Amino acid sequence: MLLILAKAATKQAYKLSIVKVAEDLPKLVRRHAMSLENLSPSRRRFLSSALGTSIGLTALSSGQEPESNPQPTALKRAPHVYKFQIGDAEAWSISDAYFPLREGLGLMWPEEKRPEMDALLQEEGRRKEDAVPLYVNILVVRTDKETVIFDAGFGGKENERMGWLTSGLALAGISPESITAAFLSHSHSDHLNGFAREGKPAFPNAEIHLLQSEIDFWRSPEPDFSETKRNRKNLPNMIKTVRNHFDMLEEVLTPHKQETTTLLGGLVTIEPAPGHTTGHACFRIRSGGEEFLHLMDLAHHDLLMFADPNWTIAFDHHPKQSVETRKVFWSEAAAKKTRCYGFHLPFPGIGTIIETGPGYRWAAEPWRW
Ligand SMILES: [Zn+2]
Repeated sequence: MLLILAKAATKQAYKLSIVKVAEDLPKLVRRHAMSLENLSPSRRRFLSSALGTSIGLTALSSGQEPESNPQPTALKRAPHVYKFQIGDAEAWSISDAYFPLREGLGLMWPEEKRPEMDALLQEEGRRKEDAVPLYVNILVVRTDKETVIFDAGFGGKENERMGWLTSGLALAGISPESITAAFLSHSHSDHLNGFAREGKPAFPNAEIHLLQSEIDFWRSPEPDFSETKRNRKNLPNMIKTVRNHFDMLEEVLTPHKQETTTLLGGLVTIEPAPGHTTGHACFRIRSGGEEFLHLMDLAHHDLLMFADPNWTIAFDHHPKQSVETRKVFWSEAAAKKTRCYGFHLPFPGIGTIIETGPGYRWAAEPWRW
């Protein structure tokens, strides 16, 4: 009897201490004036999961029924994983990286338009130090038949700036093996490198669909960079890295002709969108009557490339062609009010393009929790 009483007393004390921790956490956050925005991603993730756990435990200790499956609720609060819907398909936007590009407006062309760009950024209250930030948004779409990933981020080990895709997929409950198909828009490191891990395909059961012209460009004896504003010093290394990745991924690379091609029973259409690279592609996803356009690298900024589609970033291989392509896609998406997704637009990267005449505006879709 004494033993039972002692056990009951210990249980009660445990419950009380959990309630205390749950009550104290918000106070602790306030006392240390920690705004979630000011925390590093790893600390934000830790705090989110700690808050999620404490809230769950409070429910248990107060005698309420525990949720049958509390995991999805916690997932919605993970700061680099955003779940949404495309028609009948489940979709996730997972942030793989974020950092301001050091060169800022020095990356933007034409050079003589930089004062105009600067004025626009100031008008919109943007901070000088992150005039041109790099968001890296990875789209994952799941139907009852397929789990599809669109580009794969920087790869490598997770750090404060990048490499968050792996942990994001785990939070969403998506194993690398469960991915059935992959699409690659082009071969820059923030898109391609995450497809390989330790010398092998990171998603072993997924073919990687891409345009043949993208492979041909990088494997040609002398890839033509005559039009780019990229730093030429880095080109030999970049070419070598791309070729190495193609070699590692050879068995899963599935090239397509330079034309609009629909795959996976109508779920994904590859649309050539040349300019950023020779074989750059956009992807249109269709499900349950909804159309969703992945803009990939047609925009590297949510203000600049929309205010004036003629403004380009130094990363374009063929800037003139990228402007022409952008104008075609912007005008069609604005006319049709297509829901769009940007690889480099502010996370989670979902929105629509509005024609303002003579330019356009990116209207980000509000988050839905
Ligand atoms: Zn990119």
